[in-house]
Amino acid sequence: MLICKARLAPSPTGYLHLGNARSFLLAWLQARALGGEIILRIEDLDRPRAVEGAEKDIVGDLEWLGLDWDNELTPNYYQSNRLHLYCEALDDFKARDLLYPCFCARKELAEAMSAPHNSAGRYPGTCRNLSTEKRAEREVKKNPALRFRVEPGSIIEYNDLIHGSLRSDVYEETGDFIVARADGIPSYQLAVVLDDIAMGVTHVLRGDDLLDSTPRQILLYHAFSTKPPIYAHVPLILGPDRKRLAKRHGSVSIVEIRGTGRSPEEVVGWLAWSCGLRSDIGKTTAAELIEDFVIDNISRHGTHLSSLDIFSP
Ligand code: GLU
Repeated sequence: MLICKARLAPSPTGYLHLGNARSFLLAWLQARALGGEIILRIEDLDRPRAVEGAEKDIVGDLEWLGLDWDNELTPNYYQSNRLHLYCEALDDFKARDLLYPCFCARKELAEAMSAPHNSAGRYPGTCRNLSTEKRAEREVKKNPALRFRVEPGSIIEYNDLIHGSLRSDVYEETGDFIVARADGIPSYQLAVVLDDIAMGVTHVLRGDDLLDSTPRQILLYHAFSTKPPIYAHVPLILGPDRKRLAKRHGSVSIVEIRGTGRSPEEVVGWLAWSCGLRSDIGKTTAAELIEDFVIDNISRHGTHLSSLDIFSP
C-alpha cells in the first residue's frame, strides 16, 4: 500500500520566490523521506490572476532546485482542464441541497461582515433562506455565486504535523462559504479538495497562510464521505515589512537569484538552514536533505528577512 502521495500545487500567478520554494522543498522532502510519490499540479483556475509564462518559469525553477515529480505534466494535471469534474460535484451538492445561490455584492458583504455582532469574515447568511420566487427574481438581474451550507455545530478537530491539535467552529468562524464564484469559476476550496481526492493525495504540506482554509476543506471531505489527508502547515518567510513574501519583494524570486549566478546548492542550503533543517548555512542538494529529514525539525516560527539582498551578487 502506498503510504504517502503528496503534491506540489503551484498557482501560475507569479514567479517562485524563496517563500513558496521553501514550502515546495519541504513537501517534496516529506514525500521522498517517506518513500512516497509526489505529483505536480498546476492550479490555473483563476485566469484573470494568471501571469503569462509564470508556469514555465515555476516548473523550471523547481527543477533547478533539484525537485522532481512522478507524473508527466499532461493536460489532466491543469485545473483549467478539470472544470467538468468540479461542475459535477456542484450538481451533486445542489441535488443534496448542500448549496444555495448568493447574490450579495462584495460591498454589501464587507459591510455585513464588519458589523459588530459578526465575528470577522463570517458570512451572515443573507441569501440562505431566500424564497424560490425571490431567487428567480434576482437571477434575472445577476449571476449568483454558490455557497456551501455550514450547519451550526460544524466543529472540525484535526491534527496538524506542525501546529499540533487544532479545533475550529466553521459555523461561527466562516459560515456558509463560496464554492463557485458569480462568474462560474469553482472556488479554490472546492477544486483543491476534489483534485486531492481524485489524485489520491494522502499528505498536504503547504504554507501556513492556508491554515484558515483547512477546516472548510475538511468539511468538503466530509461531504464527499472521504477521509481528509494528513496536514502540515509550514511557517512562511516574511519580508522586511513582516508581510509574507510576495511579488513586491522582487529580489527574492528564484529567477532573479539564478540570474546572479548563485547555484541551486547555495539556495537549497539557505532554505534548509532558514527553517531549521541545517544548523549552518552551507551548500547542499535537495536529495542530500532526504536522509535525515524529520518534520519535527522544521522551525515553528516564520523566517523574517531583515533585508532582501541575501543573494545579491
Ligand atoms: N495553489 C495554491 C497556492 O499556490 C496552493 C494550494 C494548496 O496547497 O492547497 O497558493
